[in-house]
Amino acid sequence: MSFFEIENLSLSFGGVKAVDGVSFSVNQGEVFTIVGPNGAGKSTIFNMISSFYAPSEGRIRFEGADITDAKPDEISRLGIARTFQNIELFEHSTLLQNLLIGREIHNKVPLWRQILFDPGVRRAEFEHRRQVEDVIDFLELAHYRNERIANLPYGVRKKIELGRALCVAPQLLLLDEPASGLNPEETEEMGFWIDDIKRDLGMTVLMIEHDMSLVNEVSDRVLALNNGRVITEGSAQEVQNHPDVVAAYLGGAA
Ligand code: ADP
Ligand code: MG
Repeated sequence: MSFFEIENLSLSFGGVKAVDGVSFSVNQGEVFTIVGPNGAGKSTIFNMISSFYAPSEGRIRFEGADITDAKPDEISRLGIARTFQNIELFEHSTLLQNLLIGREIHNKVPLWRQILFDPGVRRAEFEHRRQVEDVIDFLELAHYRNERIANLPYGVRKKIELGRALCVAPQLLLLDEPASGLNPEETEEMGFWIDDIKRDLGMTVLMIEHDMSLVNEVSDRVLALNNGRVITEGSAQEVQNHPDVVAAYLGGAA
């Protein structure tokens, strides 16, 4: 049984097959990276995993359970969290508020108990706070705790976007282009965080990334996609040297 697996996944928009019969599986504890030119279908795969889109064909399995038809909040509760290619934070709230909102999904306490504010509720609140503070410490964000997102530089926001996903303590973390918009120094730092997430937090990472320096630095295995289809799968080096991958990137640039 694979830790995480997608099998023959497909989805069309209008007449265009954005994702066309894609299969792969991710082992527990690895960093598995999807590369491919713009429009290859990478984000669409993430949107199907998060249940924002329903696939027209294929199945998605997590720890042996079929989660293809699960609702977005169920996906999150099962232990899958994601970041977005375009940062999705509340601009006018603080870092701390954004991370606490990220925890809301784990708030399973029924409303009547919240109103009575019994010890179980206090415990849940305490647990939210502790988890959020752990993530702030882990990503070394304490300095920005009470800053509004709108006032923070892009590189810090990108890290907070990562922190928001970490706050739900996922087993599987989906990162959609964590290095996009970052300078080379920030990209290298992002690589260190991803390594730490794998090593220290024991999370499994499924990542989409364009920046080959980051792909090389953190990936255990890489899958290349073009026009919604898998071209090849292997080590970062093998995939980059594959003639069809080289051709796909040249085609995209032309
Ligand atoms: P990538 O993330 O690899 O750059 P996407 O998955 O975002 O690519 O897009 C794959 C293809 O699907 C593209 O041709 C894109 O225009 C199309 N697409 C993605 N989302 C939508 C949508 N919501 N409606 C229509 N077309 C879409
Ligand atoms: Mg994308």
